[in-house]
Amino acid sequence: MKQRYSIVVVGGGVTGLMAATLMARSPQHEALDITLVDIGPRPVFAPNDDIALRVSAIANGTAELFDSVGAWEYTAATRAAPYTSMRIWDESDTPDSAAALRFDADEFAIGQLGFIVENVLLQDVLLYQLDRTDVTLKFESPIRALRRTPHGYDLELGSDEVLAADLVVGADGARSFVRAAVGIEAREWPYEQTAFVTHLRPEKSHGGTAWQRFLRDGPLGILPLDDGRVSVVWSTAPEQAQAALAADDAETGRVLSEASDYVLGKLEVAGPKGAFPLCARHASSYVLPNVALIGDAAHAIHPLAGQGANLGLQDAAELAAQVSRAVAEGLHPGDRPVLRRYERARKGANATMLHFMTGLNRLFATDSKIIGGIRSAGMRAFNRSGPVRERAVKVALGVG
Ligand SMILES: Cc1cc2nc3c(=O)[nH]c(=O)nc-3n(C[C@H](O)[C@H](O)[C@H](O)COP(=O)(O)OP(=O)(O)OC[C@H]3O[C@@H](n4cnc5c(N)ncnc54)[C@H](O)[C@@H]3O)c2cc1C
Repeated sequence: MKQRYSIVVVGGGVTGLMAATLMARSPQHEALDITLVDIGPRPVFAPNDDIALRVSAIANGTAELFDSVGAWEYTAATRAAPYTSMRIWDESDTPDSAAALRFDADEFAIGQLGFIVENVLLQDVLLYQLDRTDVTLKFESPIRALRRTPHGYDLELGSDEVLAADLVVGADGARSFVRAAVGIEAREWPYEQTAFVTHLRPEKSHGGTAWQRFLRDGPLGILPLDDGRVSVVWSTAPEQAQAALAADDAETGRVLSEASDYVLGKLEVAGPKGAFPLCARHASSYVLPNVALIGDAAHAIHPLAGQGANLGLQDAAELAAQVSRAVAEGLHPGDRPVLRRYERARKGANATMLHFMTGLNRLFATDSKIIGGIRSAGMRAFNRSGPVRERAVKVALGVG
């Protein structure tokens, strides 16, 4: 009989769920015993519930990945808001100025630049697919310990159950237990910003446009929602984010209308509020023998360009492809040379995006007139630079 391998995916966020789904659907799935464990309850999306607080900008390439596992049709038909243009401008300019960046789906002959989708919907559609495979799902299952064994790792769950793994996939988010337990270090660059998030009803139609205004304290992202509201991600000084959280809705609406320079007229709070401290983080290594980190467990980046989940999902796709390839070649999927193929394919690309976002955030967060002048000239030059602009858009669309 063909050898079977036990794979334990730790974390049921979008990246862990995608990795498990892709492996369970791979041509080598019969050789894999896959278990996914998560400390939290099973996420449930109910179409009649209000739009959840956490939404993500999903690139076209990522939508194609969901489609490849049969999980996009329902998403698109349910509550995915396509956006067809983007406007990015500095607080000292206007969205129509020559120094503002403007991207339209039409100029690239595509239907949309991406979609705004609730995180819980993305999890729900992947769980629907996983329920149709033989993957074992264990929610509300904290890991108590991770012990090295001659064959891989033993994972001890809170229920005293022990799972033996030939490969542990650490998809347990920015404060990864797996990363710490196996001794992989992560470098951190605190942004000294907190993202305040809420939904608002704009006075003017959002017109399917995603807006980003760079303010000195951090960027303000305004994302179009399916029902005409917008989701705001305001990365700002932690005390300002806390003040917005504590303020009444009228005051929060007034502050955000001003921060957006009234680009959509007055904004009225119409949804829950939340705050998320921001920090860039990059694992020194993504793999060890019998362990691979994916998603935020490997890298956490500033949400300003909406890339975190998109990058994590690409990690999931690459790791699943390498596991499948290894099994087809008769190799052990937990061997370091196999896992290094995954790391080599993803770490450089993620590092480039992480440092670019960190630099961009700093570039706009300065009061210096000289840097302001260079920034403005750079944005004008970028607008005129055909190939560079096209390449940047391809990366943002997840097709570069
Ligand atoms: C305000 C904000 C806006 C964002 N907007 C975007 C965007 O527009 N587009 C985009 O691409 N990205 C965006 N991101 C980034 C994106 O949300 C993350 O990159 C993505 O959610 C990471 O997914 P993940 O599955 O790797 O980790 P997570 O979503 O953090 O999932 C980790 C899972 O592991 C589980 N877990 C944790 N510890 C344990 C443990 N010990 N045992 C078992 N399970 C455990 C958790 O319960 C959780 O389910 C944004 C981030 C923020 C903060």
